[in-house]
Amino acid sequence: MDQDSGFAISCQPEGFKLLDVAYMQYHKAVSHLDLDPGLADVLWRGGRSLSVDFPVRMDDGTVRVFSGYRVQHSTHRGPAKGGIRFHPSVDLDEVKALAALMTWKCAVVDIPFGGAKGGVQCDPRELSLGELERITRRFTWEITPFIGPDSDIPAPDINTNAQTMSWIMDTYSILAGYTVLGVVTGKPVGVGGSLGREAATAQGAVYALREAAIARGLDLEQVSVAVQGFGNVGYHTARILSEMGVKVVAVSDVDGGIYSEAGLDIPAARTHLTEHGTVSTAPQGDTVTNAELLELPVDILVPAAIEGQITLENADRIKARIIVEGANGPTSFDADAILADQGVLVVPDILANAGGVTVSYFEWVQNTQKLFWNEEDINARLDQIITQAFHAVAAIAQDHKVDLRTAAYILAVERVAQAAVSRGVFP
Ligand code: NAD
Repeated sequence: MDQDSGFAISCQPEGFKLLDVAYMQYHKAVSHLDLDPGLADVLWRGGRSLSVDFPVRMDDGTVRVFSGYRVQHSTHRGPAKGGIRFHPSVDLDEVKALAALMTWKCAVVDIPFGGAKGGVQCDPRELSLGELERITRRFTWEITPFIGPDSDIPAPDINTNAQTMSWIMDTYSILAGYTVLGVVTGKPVGVGGSLGREAATAQGAVYALREAAIARGLDLEQVSVAVQGFGNVGYHTARILSEMGVKVVAVSDVDGGIYSEAGLDIPAARTHLTEHGTVSTAPQGDTVTNAELLELPVDILVPAAIEGQITLENADRIKARIIVEGANGPTSFDADAILADQGVLVVPDILANAGGVTVSYFEWVQNTQKLFWNEEDINARLDQIITQAFHAVAAIAQDHKVDLRTAAYILAVERVAQAAVSRGVFP
């Protein structure tokens, strides 16, 4: 947040609005479906939004007001589900767009959840651990009437993690008077978290990447991969790939990245990040900007940072043959068309990063049953779900002669529409 003006500094490029992109993606899919226009409107615009402004005492004794949001886009197929993001660019429209993406994502992988998202407009890099805890607990109190294990279940997203989820679960439980494990997912394993959840989004992205490589006839032992973002999704994707023997040649964070044609030492890069707060100064290969990383001569690109990274401005300079969207909304609507013309296979966010919500679903089921599964079981089930979804989407893409994103939307919108029709309109 710009402390002087009080306005959020957007991390999205000029002219990029995720809500517009999500709307156009949705309507492109709807044009391939025989949906009643009223139903199409309900599926896009239904839902509820909660905006809150709340005070937090800072370490220096002053009080600051923070803005937060929780949006439930759809509950047609089950409780609303989606992450909570702490970032200066969070606003209601961004959260609405991300909530809609969650609806389609849960439907693509056929798990019984609707879509939600939340966020607090803040810059965690300026906040102490104590301030972050007080923001999290007060925000939880503000949205408590809205969330619950059977109504709306948050999870981690940008700048939130297992610790954040633990604070949310604890605050909600104190207000309820008993421990409610299932109110959030992505918790630490000792307090109801699931084995495999931390790396689940990345693991799912790697399964999707594997299927895309097979579809394109690429041998994973021969390919080079660049990963933008070195947080939960980016780091674990780079780590899992390099453990599989896949050559990861570039990684980056908000400050920039590193590139070595020979391949990077991912554990060493992670150690550097822990010790220095950024991966961009790790003494490996050459330094690159985030913009340069996207245009590197690699076979596979994994944008796993933030939205709006591949746009009209740079799409024609992308050299990768496959893009696996670890992040939500990294590609603009116009850029999709350019990439398709260039023959780039884009595995869309609502499929590529659905591993996180899939294992969140496993966590929620384990919390409900009070019976925990082992990691092998979780990854095998995740592999089955992502692989099955990939092939269902690829088959629709072939039938309708559309790209994978449109095909994924067609599959998802059809499933949500069926649920909406069978439930009917109240009253
Ligand atoms: P994170 O906070 O753990 O990591 C974000 C990474 O992106 C960091 O390395 C950060 O330095 C980098 N970054 C931030 N701003 C940037 C910028 N302007 N340019 C380049 N890099 C920048 O977040 P995460 O959980 O890894 O989420 C990353 C993306 O994946 C987001 O789009 C998120 O919505 C999506 N996603 C996350 C999950 C999950 O389970 N965590 C699930 C599905 C989708």
